[in-house]
Amino acid sequence: MLKIEGSVKNYAWGGYGYIPMLLGKSFDGKTPFAEVWFGDHKAGPSVLDDGSFLDQVISDNPLENLGEPVCRKYGGRLPFLLKILDVRAPLSIQVHPSKEQAEEGYKREESLSIDPALRNYKDDNHKPELMLALSDFYLLHGFRQRDNALSDLKKFSELDYFARLYEEKSLKDFVEFIFLQDKSLLEEKLRPLFMRLYSDYVNYSLSKTDNFYWFMRAAVQCEEDKRSFDAGLIMTLIMNLMYVKTGDVVFQGSGVPHAYLEGQNIELMANSDNVVRGGLTVKHVDVAELLKITEFNTIDPSTVKPSSVSENCLEYRVPVKDFILREYQLKAGEKLSAPLEKGPCIWLLFSGELEQTGCLSFSKAPDAFFQKPGETGEFIARTHVRLFRASSEL
Ligand SMILES: [Zn+2]
Repeated sequence: MLKIEGSVKNYAWGGYGYIPMLLGKSFDGKTPFAEVWFGDHKAGPSVLDDGSFLDQVISDNPLENLGEPVCRKYGGRLPFLLKILDVRAPLSIQVHPSKEQAEEGYKREESLSIDPALRNYKDDNHKPELMLALSDFYLLHGFRQRDNALSDLKKFSELDYFARLYEEKSLKDFVEFIFLQDKSLLEEKLRPLFMRLYSDYVNYSLSKTDNFYWFMRAAVQCEEDKRSFDAGLIMTLIMNLMYVKTGDVVFQGSGVPHAYLEGQNIELMANSDNVVRGGLTVKHVDVAELLKITEFNTIDPSTVKPSSVSENCLEYRVPVKDFILREYQLKAGEKLSAPLEKGPCIWLLFSGELEQTGCLSFSKAPDAFFQKPGETGEFIARTHVRLFRASSEL
């Protein structure tokens, strides 16, 4: 197994201390640490002990590093990307494309030589995502049932304009309408509610399980970024607000609008960076593309239930084959044989210390390893250990 180091992303929405503390790095309380990537994505490949990059190592010898089934199916790259996220400020509302949409969109944008900052499609892959909460976690996930959305839109007279529109229009037409509205109209229509709720928000009278808390938090963020209010604020009221408790898992398939709001998680996704954004961001928003790939269904959110592989291992499977997440919890002294697989795996030692038997190397959190197909390893836990493994279904 090859020891790998994750690639850190300092996006503005990231927290200041969680990731550097996890990685044992120093921090200044001002530089945001948003994500750590474990994988071979070109935008942030993991680094080996000798300084080489995992994407290079894999492309030098794809058959040995990925195995024949993965090479055939995924074209010489890892099927998945594993990340740790620390969400301090709400992320943009976003939707990820299906495989077909990504292939078409990437080809189209390549042929148009679009400015990289304006691109939706950085690769030709879909990006379904699974997240396991490492703390209390809040996110927006899919569209709420109509009655629930309408009851919030009718709660304050300041939203009458939007409540009426929502009643008159289909969900798709309503979303299209708010995204195509002039920013000054949205500003004018939403400012009074912002003023009304402001003191409740700053006095902590709004609960984080109330959609209006996130409406206000996003509105305050607009003010801080000196952006005008956008359609994303109304989306906070017509999307499901999900509270996910530590250890629970959520899956987001293609076409489902979502936004991470607060907390830390482990994310496992198809190996892609394709995001189409829909407001609450200073980044590029492509409304036409957003409307094209969004699925306009209301959904009741649910968590992914694990199956038990063994006494110390839970496995999370989702409706795509690109990735499977396993979580191992080992007691001190307990042994683990890394199962032999036909494809590659990435291991992340999240907490505790492990000893690889047969050699003198010790590992402690947050070490990560790349396991080639056909490779195995024997470990003994020196302390209580929490270990994650990413693999794919072949
Ligand atoms: Zn996403």
